[in-house]
Amino acid sequence: MSLNHIRPWRNIYRRKSRQIMVGSVPVGGDAPITVQTMTNTLTTDVAATVSQIQACADAGADIVRVSVPDEASSKALKEIVRESPVPIVADIHFHYKRGIEAAEAGAACLRINPGNIGSQERVREVIKAARDYGCSMRIGVNAGSLEKHLLDKYGEPCPDAMVESGLEHIKILQDNDFHDFKISVKASDVFMAAAAYQALAEATDAPIHLGITEAGGLMSGTIKSAIGLGNLLWMGIGDTIRVSLSADPVEEVKVGYDILKSLGLRHRGVNIISCPSCARQGFDVIKTVEALERRLEHIKTPMSLSIIGCVVNGPGEALMTDVGFTGGGNGAGMVYLAGQQSHKLSNDEMVEHIVSQVETRAAQLDLEAAAVENSAN
Ligand code: SF4
Repeated sequence: MSLNHIRPWRNIYRRKSRQIMVGSVPVGGDAPITVQTMTNTLTTDVAATVSQIQACADAGADIVRVSVPDEASSKALKEIVRESPVPIVADIHFHYKRGIEAAEAGAACLRINPGNIGSQERVREVIKAARDYGCSMRIGVNAGSLEKHLLDKYGEPCPDAMVESGLEHIKILQDNDFHDFKISVKASDVFMAAAAYQALAEATDAPIHLGITEAGGLMSGTIKSAIGLGNLLWMGIGDTIRVSLSADPVEEVKVGYDILKSLGLRHRGVNIISCPSCARQGFDVIKTVEALERRLEHIKTPMSLSIIGCVVNGPGEALMTDVGFTGGGNGAGMVYLAGQQSHKLSNDEMVEHIVSQVETRAAQLDLEAAAVENSAN
């Protein structure tokens, strides 16, 4: 149960957006903020693409985007959609035929900018295909590829130009009575993206897809995304997110989840609270946390684990976690369960024992959640 009524400083008031469906996944309204990523395999390599999608879904991706640059990719998309455990967004640039083919192939959403497709007739054809096949759309404005008339008007990419571009694309869809769309205004510059998203949030009630584009490598891109997306999410802006990293898409999903987890917006898996360690540590905190992160990746139940080097902060952190361990002297420490001191544990057995304690607690929490759900039905 949320305790936000007694911890009001934790409240985030989400902007009210209308809800659309990306396949079976709701986006916007009061739906959970979803995490997306994008495959980087060749779409025509169906086996590699499906295996990457599966790995991303295992890591928690709710939706995965796949590029559809040519006709062969459209054909492969059909098989990919059939085998994917999550809805697929088809990434289309310019070529309206790919959009139609992707809708026919079962894509749940088309990432396409209607203003870039060409004639009104082509726009109508793509919208008709989307409608016929139950496909939503994402308008994806990017500071790096703004329309020439906006660059002429504003002189350079800027938040106003990005929002104006977005609103032009929105108008095309609305003029064709198509409303199942979400929108993004991405930039690699955190300031520009944040300003554009804030203005966009005022200008439309469409669900917003957040992203800092071309954010960089795993470390620097994570930091940039956490600052940019974190601030916007904290303001209540954003219905679905994609972290863009020059790294494995699975890492993008993990980072996306961690951003949402840090803000209490999504809960999945074990939230490990650990100290940085110092000369007081009763065991090797860094190595232990690394091992536990790996060993606990399979846990999907939202729960918390504190791994603290010594009694300075250990018992206090353990009070608020499902499972806790605090380092002590003589090669042993103390295990806490549901905030209560439970039993002593030798450092040598620690990783195995904590993994089994976490698994037990996760099974308990799952049973409790199932019981609550049954009594509600
Ligand atoms: S909790 Fe203990 S071991 Fe960890 S950083 Fe603080 S003083 Fe050091």
